[in-house]
Amino acid sequence: SLTAGIVGLPNVGKSTLFNAITKAGALAANYPFATIDPNVGVVDVPDYRLDKLAEIVKPQRVVPTSFEFTDIAGIVKGASKGEGLGNKFLSHIREVDAICQVVRCFDDENITHVAGKVDPIADIEVINLELILADLESVDKRLQRVSKIAKQKDKDAMAEEAVLLKIKEALENEKPARSVELSEDEKKIIKGLNLLTMKPMLYVANVSEEDVANPDDNEYVKQVRAYAEAEGSKVITVCAKIEEEIAQLDDEEKKMFLEELGIKESGLDQLIRAAYDLLGFATYFTAGEKEVRAWTFKKGMKAPECAGIIHSDFERGFIRAETVSFEDLVAAGSMQQAKEQGKVRLEGKDYVVQDGDIMLFRFNV
Ligand code: GDP
Repeated sequence: SLTAGIVGLPNVGKSTLFNAITKAGALAANYPFATIDPNVGVVDVPDYRLDKLAEIVKPQRVVPTSFEFTDIAGIVKGASKGEGLGNKFLSHIREVDAICQVVRCFDDENITHVAGKVDPIADIEVINLELILADLESVDKRLQRVSKIAKQKDKDAMAEEAVLLKIKEALENEKPARSVELSEDEKKIIKGLNLLTMKPMLYVANVSEEDVANPDDNEYVKQVRAYAEAEGSKVITVCAKIEEEIAQLDDEEKKMFLEELGIKESGLDQLIRAAYDLLGFATYFTAGEKEVRAWTFKKGMKAPECAGIIHSDFERGFIRAETVSFEDLVAAGSMQQAKEQGKVRLEGKDYVVQDGDIMLFRFNV
Protein backbone atom coordinates (compact mmCIF):
# COMPACT_ATOMS: atom_id res chain seq x y z
CA SER A 1 0.00 0.00 0.00
CA LEU A 2 1.02 3.60 -0.42
CA THR A 3 2.69 5.31 2.47
CA ALA A 4 3.75 8.78 3.54
CA GLY A 5 7.16 9.18 5.18
CA ILE A 6 7.78 11.54 8.09
CA VAL A 7 11.11 13.33 7.89
CA GLY A 8 12.75 16.29 9.60
CA LEU A 9 15.93 17.38 11.35
CA PRO A 10 16.63 16.04 14.86
CA ASN A 11 14.65 17.63 17.72
CA VAL A 12 11.86 19.10 15.62
CA GLY A 13 9.18 16.82 17.08
CA LYS A 14 9.10 13.87 14.66
CA SER A 15 9.08 11.16 17.32
CA THR A 16 6.45 13.00 19.32
CA LEU A 17 4.22 13.22 16.27
CA PHE A 18 4.91 9.63 15.29
CA ASN A 19 4.02 8.52 18.84
CA ALA A 20 0.71 10.29 18.43
CA ILE A 21 0.17 8.39 15.19
CA THR A 22 0.91 4.98 16.68
CA LYS A 23 -1.18 5.70 19.78
CA ALA A 24 -4.11 6.80 17.65
CA GLY A 25 -3.50 3.72 15.51
CA ALA A 26 -3.64 1.43 18.52
CA LEU A 27 -7.14 2.75 19.13
CA ALA A 28 -8.09 2.11 15.53
CA ALA A 29 -9.57 -1.26 16.31
CA ASN A 30 -10.11 -2.35 12.75
CA TYR A 31 -6.52 -2.69 11.80
CA PRO A 32 -6.10 -6.38 11.13
CA PHE A 33 -2.35 -6.90 11.41
CA ALA A 34 -1.08 -7.78 14.85
CA THR A 35 2.59 -7.20 14.29
CA ILE A 36 3.81 -4.38 12.18
CA ASP A 37 7.09 -2.65 11.57
CA PRO A 38 7.77 -0.33 14.54
CA ASN A 39 8.52 2.43 12.05
CA VAL A 40 5.08 2.14 10.52
CA GLY A 41 2.00 3.72 12.05
CA VAL A 42 -1.49 2.96 10.79
CA VAL A 43 -4.36 5.35 11.43
CA ASP A 44 -8.04 5.54 10.58
CA VAL A 45 -8.92 8.18 8.03
CA PRO A 46 -11.49 10.50 9.61
CA ASP A 47 -14.54 10.93 7.37
CA TYR A 48 -17.80 12.57 8.47
CA ARG A 49 -19.59 10.84 5.59
CA LEU A 50 -19.27 7.47 7.32
CA ASP A 51 -21.39 8.62 10.26
CA LYS A 52 -23.94 10.09 7.91
CA LEU A 53 -24.18 6.83 5.96
CA ALA A 54 -24.49 4.87 9.18
CA GLU A 55 -27.49 7.04 10.14
CA ILE A 56 -29.17 6.17 6.87
CA VAL A 57 -28.29 2.50 6.57
CA LYS A 58 -28.11 1.56 10.29
CA PRO A 59 -25.52 -1.17 9.80
CA GLN A 60 -24.16 -3.52 12.45
CA ARG A 61 -20.75 -1.91 12.17
CA VAL A 62 -18.86 0.94 10.59
CA VAL A 63 -15.36 0.44 9.23
CA PRO A 64 -13.21 3.42 8.29
CA THR A 65 -10.38 3.14 5.83
CA SER A 66 -6.81 3.34 7.06
CA PHE A 67 -3.63 5.06 6.10
CA GLU A 68 0.05 4.37 6.69
CA PHE A 69 2.86 6.62 7.89
CA THR A 70 6.52 5.64 8.04
CA ASP A 71 8.92 7.25 10.50
CA ILE A 72 12.17 8.09 8.74
CA ALA A 73 14.58 9.33 11.37
CA GLY A 74 18.16 10.35 10.87
CA ILE A 75 18.53 13.04 8.28
CA VAL A 76 21.41 15.42 8.95
CA LYS A 77 23.38 17.85 6.88
CA GLY A 78 25.61 15.82 4.57
CA ALA A 79 23.24 12.87 4.24
CA SER A 80 23.64 12.81 0.47
CA LYS A 81 27.41 12.44 1.03
CA GLY A 82 26.72 9.42 3.19
CA GLU A 83 27.22 11.22 6.52
CA GLY A 84 25.33 10.02 9.56
CA LEU A 85 22.76 7.51 8.47
CA GLY A 86 22.80 9.32 5.15
CA ASN A 87 22.48 6.65 2.53
CA LYS A 88 20.20 4.44 4.55
CA PHE A 89 17.99 7.40 5.24
CA LEU A 90 17.74 8.34 1.60
CA SER A 91 16.90 4.79 0.57
CA HIS A 92 14.04 4.81 3.08
CA ILE A 93 12.70 8.00 1.56
CA ARG A 94 12.92 6.37 -1.84
CA GLU A 95 10.38 3.78 -0.68
CA VAL A 96 7.67 6.22 0.36
CA ASP A 97 5.14 7.81 -1.98
CA ALA A 98 4.88 11.21 -0.33
CA ILE A 99 6.96 13.14 2.19
CA CYS A 100 5.71 14.92 5.31
CA GLN A 101 8.46 17.20 6.52
CA VAL A 102 8.18 18.22 10.17
CA VAL A 103 9.50 21.74 10.75
CA ARG A 104 10.23 23.19 14.16
CA CYS A 105 8.20 26.34 14.71
CA PHE A 106 8.30 26.38 18.52
CA ASP A 107 10.76 28.11 20.81
CA ASP A 108 11.96 26.17 23.82
CA GLU A 109 15.27 26.98 25.47
CA ASN A 110 15.46 23.52 26.94
CA ILE A 111 15.38 21.80 23.60
CA THR A 112 18.53 22.12 21.62
CA HIS A 113 18.25 23.04 18.00
CA VAL A 114 20.84 21.30 15.83
CA ALA A 115 21.80 24.54 14.12
CA GLY A 116 21.76 26.62 17.32
CA LYS A 117 18.57 28.56 16.69
CA VAL A 118 15.03 28.05 15.48
CA ASP A 119 14.95 28.94 11.79
CA PRO A 120 12.39 26.90 9.87
CA ILE A 121 13.42 28.00 6.40
CA ALA A 122 17.08 27.20 7.02
CA ASP A 123 15.96 23.78 8.33
CA ILE A 124 13.81 23.10 5.30
CA GLU A 125 16.64 24.10 3.01
CA VAL A 126 19.05 21.72 4.71
CA ILE A 127 16.74 18.79 4.10
CA ASN A 128 15.62 19.80 0.64
CA LEU A 129 19.22 20.35 -0.44
CA GLU A 130 20.18 16.85 0.67
CA LEU A 131 17.33 15.45 -1.40
CA ILE A 132 18.31 17.61 -4.37
CA LEU A 133 21.98 16.54 -4.19
CA ALA A 134 21.00 12.89 -4.02
CA ASP A 135 18.78 13.34 -7.08
CA LEU A 136 21.48 15.20 -8.94
CA GLU A 137 23.72 12.21 -8.46
CA SER A 138 21.05 9.83 -9.77
CA VAL A 139 20.36 12.05 -12.77
CA ASP A 140 24.05 12.45 -13.63
CA LYS A 141 24.64 8.72 -13.46
CA ARG A 142 21.69 8.03 -15.69
CA LEU A 143 22.65 10.79 -18.11
CA GLN A 144 26.09 9.30 -18.64
CA ARG A 145 24.55 6.09 -19.83
CA VAL A 146 21.66 7.51 -21.77
CA SER A 147 23.72 10.14 -23.60
CA LYS A 148 25.94 7.48 -25.14
CA ILE A 149 22.95 5.71 -26.61
CA ALA A 150 21.31 8.99 -27.61
CA LYS A 151 24.36 9.81 -29.73
CA GLN A 152 23.48 6.82 -31.90
CA LYS A 153 20.17 8.54 -32.64
CA ASP A 154 18.19 6.13 -30.53
CA LYS A 155 14.74 7.77 -30.21
CA ASP A 156 13.94 6.57 -26.69
CA ALA A 157 17.33 7.53 -25.37
CA MET A 158 17.07 10.95 -26.95
CA ALA A 159 13.70 11.54 -25.35
CA GLU A 160 15.00 10.45 -21.96
CA GLU A 161 18.10 12.58 -22.29
CA ALA A 162 15.95 15.65 -22.94
CA VAL A 163 13.90 15.08 -19.81
CA LEU A 164 16.96 14.38 -17.70
CA LEU A 165 18.59 17.61 -18.85
CA LYS A 166 15.51 19.61 -17.91
CA ILE A 167 15.49 18.10 -14.46
CA LYS A 168 19.22 18.51 -14.05
CA GLU A 169 18.91 22.21 -14.72
CA ALA A 170 16.26 22.60 -12.03
CA LEU A 171 18.27 20.60 -9.51
CA GLU A 172 21.38 22.68 -10.21
CA ASN A 173 19.30 25.74 -9.40
CA GLU A 174 18.36 24.03 -6.13
CA LYS A 175 14.80 23.44 -7.29
CA PRO A 176 13.04 20.09 -6.76
CA ALA A 177 12.33 17.85 -9.75
CA ARG A 178 8.59 18.20 -9.12
CA SER A 179 8.89 21.91 -9.98
CA VAL A 180 9.70 21.01 -13.60
CA GLU A 181 6.66 20.98 -15.84
CA LEU A 182 6.51 17.63 -17.58
CA SER A 183 4.01 16.00 -19.91
CA GLU A 184 2.49 12.66 -18.93
CA ASP A 185 4.85 10.93 -21.35
CA GLU A 186 7.87 12.68 -19.89
CA LYS A 187 6.76 11.74 -16.39
CA LYS A 188 6.57 8.11 -17.47
CA ILE A 189 10.05 8.25 -18.94
CA ILE A 190 11.71 9.23 -15.67
CA LYS A 191 9.40 7.38 -13.29
CA GLY A 192 11.87 4.52 -13.02
CA LEU A 193 14.54 6.78 -11.54
CA ASN A 194 12.27 7.27 -8.52
CA LEU A 195 13.65 10.72 -7.75
CA LEU A 196 13.27 11.93 -4.18
CA THR A 197 12.33 15.48 -5.10
CA MET A 198 9.65 14.22 -7.46
CA LYS A 199 7.61 12.97 -4.52
CA PRO A 200 4.91 15.33 -3.28
CA MET A 201 5.87 17.25 -0.14
CA LEU A 202 3.75 18.41 2.78
CA TYR A 203 5.23 20.71 5.41
CA VAL A 204 4.12 20.03 8.96
CA ALA A 205 4.75 23.14 11.07
CA ASN A 206 5.14 22.06 14.69
CA VAL A 207 4.03 24.93 16.90
CA SER A 208 4.02 25.42 20.67
CA GLU A 209 1.10 24.74 22.99
CA GLU A 210 0.53 28.51 23.23
CA ASP A 211 0.20 28.91 19.47
CA VAL A 212 -2.00 25.95 18.72
CA ALA A 213 -5.29 27.88 18.66
CA ASN A 214 -3.95 30.58 16.32
CA PRO A 215 -0.99 29.04 14.56
CA ASP A 216 -1.04 31.51 11.70
CA ASP A 217 -0.08 34.35 14.04
CA ASN A 218 3.24 32.60 14.55
CA GLU A 219 6.07 34.22 12.56
CA TYR A 220 7.75 30.90 11.83
CA VAL A 221 4.53 29.50 10.40
CA LYS A 222 4.17 32.54 8.15
CA GLN A 223 7.66 31.93 6.80
CA VAL A 224 6.94 28.27 6.13
CA ARG A 225 3.69 29.13 4.38
CA ALA A 226 5.41 31.63 2.10
CA TYR A 227 8.14 29.14 1.26
CA ALA A 228 5.70 26.32 0.55
CA GLU A 229 3.44 28.51 -1.53
CA ALA A 230 6.36 29.50 -3.76
CA GLU A 231 7.03 25.85 -4.58
CA GLY A 232 3.37 24.84 -4.71
CA SER A 233 3.40 22.66 -1.59
CA LYS A 234 0.91 22.55 1.26
CA VAL A 235 1.38 23.32 4.94
CA ILE A 236 -0.48 22.10 7.99
CA THR A 237 0.12 23.15 11.59
CA VAL A 238 0.20 20.84 14.59
CA CYS A 239 1.42 20.90 18.15
CA ALA A 240 3.04 17.48 18.34
CA LYS A 241 3.00 17.49 22.13
CA ILE A 242 -0.73 18.08 22.31
CA GLU A 243 -1.36 15.52 19.57
CA GLU A 244 0.39 12.95 21.70
CA GLU A 245 -2.07 13.67 24.51
CA ILE A 246 -5.12 13.77 22.25
CA ALA A 247 -4.24 10.47 20.64
CA GLN A 248 -4.98 8.64 23.89
CA LEU A 249 -8.49 10.01 24.24
CA ASP A 250 -11.70 8.48 22.96
CA ASP A 251 -13.84 10.44 20.50
CA GLU A 252 -16.00 12.16 23.11
CA GLU A 253 -13.08 13.24 25.30
CA LYS A 254 -11.18 14.35 22.23
CA LYS A 255 -14.02 16.60 21.14
CA MET A 256 -14.16 18.28 24.53
CA PHE A 257 -10.41 18.72 24.72
CA LEU A 258 -10.28 20.30 21.27
CA GLU A 259 -13.10 22.66 22.19
CA GLU A 260 -11.20 23.74 25.28
CA LEU A 261 -8.14 24.45 23.17
CA GLY A 262 -10.21 26.35 20.64
CA ILE A 263 -9.44 24.12 17.66
CA LYS A 264 -11.85 22.49 15.26
CA GLU A 265 -9.89 19.52 14.09
CA SER A 266 -6.87 17.83 15.65
CA GLY A 267 -3.54 18.33 13.89
CA LEU A 268 -3.28 14.61 13.40
CA ASP A 269 -6.62 14.44 11.61
CA GLN A 270 -5.51 17.33 9.42
CA LEU A 271 -2.25 15.54 8.73
CA ILE A 272 -4.02 12.33 7.78
CA ARG A 273 -6.38 14.09 5.39
CA ALA A 274 -3.65 16.24 3.86
CA ALA A 275 -1.34 13.26 3.31
CA TYR A 276 -4.24 11.27 1.86
CA ASP A 277 -4.94 14.08 -0.56
CA LEU A 278 -1.27 14.51 -1.42
CA LEU A 279 -1.12 10.91 -2.57
CA GLY A 280 -4.08 11.44 -4.86
CA PHE A 281 -6.33 9.23 -2.75
CA ALA A 282 -10.08 9.29 -2.63
CA THR A 283 -12.72 7.24 -0.81
CA TYR A 284 -15.64 5.17 -1.98
CA PHE A 285 -18.10 3.41 0.29
CA THR A 286 -19.91 0.13 0.48
CA ALA A 287 -23.11 0.30 2.46
CA GLY A 288 -24.95 -2.83 3.52
CA GLU A 289 -26.94 -3.77 6.60
CA LYS A 290 -23.99 -5.67 7.99
CA GLU A 291 -21.39 -3.06 7.35
CA VAL A 292 -20.84 0.46 6.15
CA ARG A 293 -17.28 0.76 5.05
CA ALA A 294 -14.86 3.23 3.51
CA TRP A 295 -12.30 2.11 0.91
CA THR A 296 -9.28 3.98 -0.38
CA PHE A 297 -8.63 4.18 -4.11
CA LYS A 298 -6.46 6.32 -6.34
CA LYS A 299 -8.24 9.10 -8.20
CA GLY A 300 -8.78 8.04 -11.78
CA MET A 301 -9.30 4.34 -11.05
CA LYS A 302 -12.11 2.61 -12.91
CA ALA A 303 -14.86 0.49 -11.36
CA PRO A 304 -13.25 -2.96 -11.87
CA GLU A 305 -9.97 -1.83 -10.31
CA CYS A 306 -11.85 -0.35 -7.39
CA ALA A 307 -13.74 -3.62 -6.99
CA GLY A 308 -10.38 -5.38 -6.92
CA ILE A 309 -9.44 -3.45 -3.79
CA ILE A 310 -12.08 -5.42 -1.91
CA HIS A 311 -11.21 -8.74 -3.50
CA SER A 312 -9.37 -9.78 -6.65
CA ASP A 313 -12.38 -11.99 -7.58
CA PHE A 314 -14.52 -8.85 -7.74
CA GLU A 315 -12.23 -7.41 -10.37
CA ARG A 316 -11.82 -10.59 -12.39
CA GLY A 317 -15.53 -11.32 -12.53
CA PHE A 318 -16.68 -7.69 -12.70
CA ILE A 319 -19.99 -7.24 -14.51
CA ARG A 320 -21.20 -3.82 -13.44
CA ALA A 321 -21.60 -1.52 -10.48
CA GLU A 322 -24.67 0.06 -8.95
CA THR A 323 -23.63 3.52 -7.94
CA VAL A 324 -25.06 6.52 -6.15
CA SER A 325 -23.20 9.60 -5.04
CA PHE A 326 -23.03 10.43 -1.33
CA GLU A 327 -24.91 13.70 -1.87
CA ASP A 328 -27.72 12.04 -3.84
CA LEU A 329 -28.15 9.31 -1.25
CA VAL A 330 -28.27 11.79 1.62
CA ALA A 331 -30.74 13.98 -0.27
CA ALA A 332 -32.96 10.97 -1.02
CA GLY A 333 -32.82 9.78 2.57
CA SER A 334 -32.67 6.06 1.79
CA MET A 335 -31.31 3.69 -0.82
CA GLN A 336 -34.86 2.75 -1.80
CA GLN A 337 -35.82 6.37 -2.45
CA ALA A 338 -32.60 7.06 -4.28
CA LYS A 339 -33.53 4.18 -6.61
CA GLU A 340 -37.05 5.46 -7.10
CA GLN A 341 -35.69 8.88 -7.97
CA GLY A 342 -33.40 7.34 -10.56
CA LYS A 343 -30.27 8.39 -8.70
CA VAL A 344 -28.79 4.92 -8.60
CA ARG A 345 -26.89 4.41 -11.82
CA LEU A 346 -25.71 1.23 -13.50
CA GLU A 347 -22.09 1.69 -14.49
CA GLY A 348 -19.82 -0.51 -16.57
CA LYS A 349 -16.14 -1.30 -16.64
CA ASP A 350 -15.10 2.10 -17.97
CA TYR A 351 -16.71 4.07 -15.17
CA VAL A 352 -14.21 6.29 -13.36
CA VAL A 353 -15.14 6.04 -9.69
CA GLN A 354 -15.69 9.38 -7.94
CA ASP A 355 -14.82 10.38 -4.39
CA GLY A 356 -17.86 9.70 -2.20
CA ASP A 357 -19.50 7.14 -4.50
CA ILE A 358 -21.44 4.38 -2.81
CA MET A 359 -20.69 1.22 -4.78
CA LEU A 360 -22.39 -2.13 -5.09
CA PHE A 361 -20.40 -4.44 -7.33
CA ARG A 362 -22.01 -7.18 -9.42
CA PHE A 363 -19.65 -9.92 -10.45
CA ASN A 364 -19.38 -13.52 -11.68
CA VAL A 365 -17.53 -15.93 -9.50
P1 GDP B 1 12.73 14.39 16.89
O1 GDP B 1 14.20 14.31 17.19
O2 GDP B 1 12.45 15.23 15.70
O3 GDP B 1 12.07 13.07 16.83
O4 GDP B 1 12.09 15.23 18.09
P2 GDP B 1 11.27 14.74 19.36
O5 GDP B 1 9.91 14.36 19.00
O6 GDP B 1 12.09 13.77 20.14
O7 GDP B 1 11.18 16.13 20.14
C1 GDP B 1 12.32 16.78 20.64
C2 GDP B 1 11.94 17.49 21.90
O8 GDP B 1 11.02 18.55 21.56
C3 GDP B 1 11.25 16.60 22.91
O9 GDP B 1 11.71 16.98 24.20
C4 GDP B 1 9.79 16.96 22.76
O10 GDP B 1 9.07 16.80 23.96
C5 GDP B 1 9.84 18.41 22.35
N1 GDP B 1 8.69 18.78 21.53
C6 GDP B 1 8.19 18.15 20.45
N2 GDP B 1 7.10 18.76 19.98
C7 GDP B 1 6.90 19.82 20.79
C8 GDP B 1 5.92 20.85 20.84
O11 GDP B 1 4.98 20.88 20.02
N3 GDP B 1 6.05 21.78 21.83
C9 GDP B 1 7.08 21.73 22.73
N4 GDP B 1 7.17 22.66 23.69
N5 GDP B 1 8.00 20.78 22.73
C10 GDP B 1 7.91 19.83 21.78
